[in-house]
Amino acid sequence: MQEPCDVCGARDRMTPRIEVGLVGLGPVWIHRCAGCGFRQVRPRPRPADLAVLYGEDYFDPDAPSGFREYAAQRQRYEREAYFLARTLRRMGRRGRLLEVGSGLGFLLDALARATDWEVEGVELSPFGARYARERFGLTVRQGTLEEMCLPAGRFDFVVQKDLLEHVGHPRRHLEETRRVMRPGARLWLITPNGEADVRPLAAASGPGADALPVLDQGHLSFFTKPQLLRLAAGAGFRCVRLRAIGARRGLRALGYLPGGRARPPLMTRRELAATVREAAGGGGVAGDDAYRALAEVLDRETALRHRRLRGWTLYYRYRRWMKGIDALAASLTAGRDFDLLLEKV
Ligand SMILES: [Zn+2]
Repeated sequence: MQEPCDVCGARDRMTPRIEVGLVGLGPVWIHRCAGCGFRQVRPRPRPADLAVLYGEDYFDPDAPSGFREYAAQRQRYEREAYFLARTLRRMGRRGRLLEVGSGLGFLLDALARATDWEVEGVELSPFGARYARERFGLTVRQGTLEEMCLPAGRFDFVVQKDLLEHVGHPRRHLEETRRVMRPGARLWLITPNGEADVRPLAAASGPGADALPVLDQGHLSFFTKPQLLRLAAGAGFRCVRLRAIGARRGLRALGYLPGGRARPPLMTRRELAATVREAAGGGGVAGDDAYRALAEVLDRETALRHRRLRGWTLYYRYRRWMKGIDALAASLTAGRDFDLLLEKV
């Protein structure tokens, strides 16, 4: 028997719809719930599969998959921290913030410098967690939030950006997030518009085709706006704010802009099979030398991409204004991402 749908709870209603490739794991099927339309990769990846997807080379700029551009984004995180710090200060001079999926720790580091809040992170990538601890002296635990068993009611604010679409069990994950928040605490969540993810995949996928469209960002769940709101309400949250952001990228993915739809990369079944790795049973922690070598690559990359202009407050405001325009232009279903502020009720 299938596990129930995360969004509507229906059992045995998920049917395979689109065959796609997941680098590291091989061909998988995006299923669709006949009850509510929610789409998700089934069967759900096991924890060992997730360890393959977010293993040692996830942040390696030379790796075939993973988040290659991360190091280039340090200044973007500093800009976000500047505005988030203002929100936090309005909530209280002190408080406790958790970032789930804290990556290399850029946002937490900038927040720790800009506020008196205590900040903590949880990060699945062993490399990312270690880098954040050693480079910035942050408290970052390695693993999934569900594995941490953090104390109930501990946090006043939780940040989860680009995470919900990657977790094995979105509903359980949100319920666990809620558990570690105090009543009235807020969760800032950013997750892609699932339709903008799926539409290019569906267009590129044909029955019996030898080449499959690749889920190159490793997204496992694809939410529409109503599904996201239903899931959040079911997990015990009230929606304070919902915006669609990234209008231009969203319209491009959906095929509404001249020049056509963004096309996902294709891989043949043979190429895909060659990427399949076995989970490094247990530990999976690379040696110190490998860690240091990659940490130095990322330090170098970060320094190389640094621009003084991008550190100016005036530039922060300019970017925020531009982003505002990009969000306003979106109807709520055309953006690339959903940006939600939820409150624990
Ligand atoms: Zn459903």
